[in-house]
Amino acid sequence: MNRQSFGPPSTRAEERGWRAAGLLVDVAGRVLPATAPLCGFCDGEDIGDTCPASLTCPTCKATPRQRCRRPSGHTAEQWHRSRVRAADLEDQRREEDGDTTLPARWADTPPAPTPSRGTR
Ligand SMILES: [Zn+2]
Ligand SMILES: [Zn+2]
Repeated sequence: MNRQSFGPPSTRAEERGWRAAGLLVDVAGRVLPATAPLCGFCDGEDIGDTCPASLTCPTCKATPRQRCRRPSGHTAEQWHRSRVRAADLEDQRREEDGDTTLPARWADTPPAPTPSRGTR
């Protein structure tokens, strides 16, 4: 499995800059295209990994394409951690299945998601 030769970036803008400069690769070692297509599930970009919004949230049960919701019913600012983790696990499963379209992991990212300590 290939890894990025550096990273992770501290901001999405930095990541976009690296991508535009052709510095990022997928797990097969191919350079990622300079611009990412829009994601079909959230209003971000489809960077090749599993979008949390493509999954049902284990915490608030938001269905694919729905934003996470607070217990009050208001739309949450961010995905619930459990949903992000579910997407990470899905990426890991794809990687184990030999999916080579995933972006390579950052140089110092551990292969398994680190267990969270009771935070959501
Ligand atoms: Zn998305
Ligand atoms: Zn949620």
